[in-house]
Amino acid sequence: NKAPVRVAVTGAAGQIGYSLLFRIASGDMLGKDQPVILQLLEVTPALKALQGVVMELRDCAFPLLADIVTSDDPMVAFKDADYALLVGAMPRKAGMERGDLLSANGGIFKPQGEALNKVASRGVKVLVVGNPANTNALIAQQNAPDLNPGQFTAMVRLDHNRAISQLAEKTGQPVDAIQNITIWGNHSSTQYPDLSAATVNGQPALDTVDREWYEGTYIPTVAKRGAAIIEARGASSAASAASAAIDHMRDWALGTPEGQWVSMGIPSDGSYGVPEGLIYGFPVKCSGGQYEIVQGLDVSDFSRGKMDATAQELQEERDEVRKLGLV
Ligand code: NDP
Repeated sequence: NKAPVRVAVTGAAGQIGYSLLFRIASGDMLGKDQPVILQLLEVTPALKALQGVVMELRDCAFPLLADIVTSDDPMVAFKDADYALLVGAMPRKAGMERGDLLSANGGIFKPQGEALNKVASRGVKVLVVGNPANTNALIAQQNAPDLNPGQFTAMVRLDHNRAISQLAEKTGQPVDAIQNITIWGNHSSTQYPDLSAATVNGQPALDTVDREWYEGTYIPTVAKRGAAIIEARGASSAASAASAAIDHMRDWALGTPEGQWVSMGIPSDGSYGVPEGLIYGFPVKCSGGQYEIVQGLDVSDFSRGKMDATAQELQEERDEVRKLGLV
């Protein structure tokens, strides 16, 4: 029997948390042979609701769920954490400027970075889901100087999964016929869902769909899917966001399938001309608990423009949090 690993989740009483925790506890994230201890963080007013979620988790009698810890103190929730999924964040409210949003989230992700730095496992793998995810990840990372910057990642996997499903629907193929899509850049409307290297049943995807549909319909549909779900459901996507978080962590921990890649928001090492240090969506392969950027892909002028635009947005966000003294 494997020893349990510690999985910290913030915003655990929220919508995404409600889908996420049950999947982690059932073994979807780290494997059906890996016991887990859930360490759940919430703001103080949400601790009562969190107790209800804990009651339901216990009522599932998950064999892999070794223990549950709850707290409103990141020093408790992140203690010895092997994995940390930072879901809780301050959503943008009507009339909020980007500076207000980043400053509100700085109040969350700066202390969380500091706490991870002090008490988490030295090998902790951190995934930021709470928006603006890339820049929130940067704030946490910059406040955790004793951890490797590469341990901090942001989620673009939901965009990646949406990109697969939209192409599958268009081509009438199953999702597993589709490989090697990349989401470049920010988890925002400037993201670039790139089909240049993608294949459908081994054939180049851009030979199977027309360019006008790709540029005019596909890219904006993927980028604006979140808004479409809010419009239809009256609430933001939660189960699909949780599922993407599971996929991101599973692939990072257990590896990507041979010959395939996924998209992760990771600190740029300057690959593909992306300014170093930005937390940017890249194509990555994972093995042995490490990710590596897929190198050598062709970048067309069209792609270059899109990749630079989303990098530009992330640079502006970084400038803003620097001005606020958060990084
Ligand atoms: P959700 O669980 O629905 O969302 C949580 C965060 O995930 C939001 O910032 C949201 O950003 C983001 N997110 C990223 N990708 C997606 C996506 N594709 N679809 C939807 N959301 C996405 O929010 P709730 O309000 O239900 O729950 C948040 C919980 O976090 C609350 O219980 C709150 O108390 C808690 N919280 C905890 C903190 C802590 O632990 N210290 C700090 C702050 C909050 P967006 O809003 O832009 O969609």
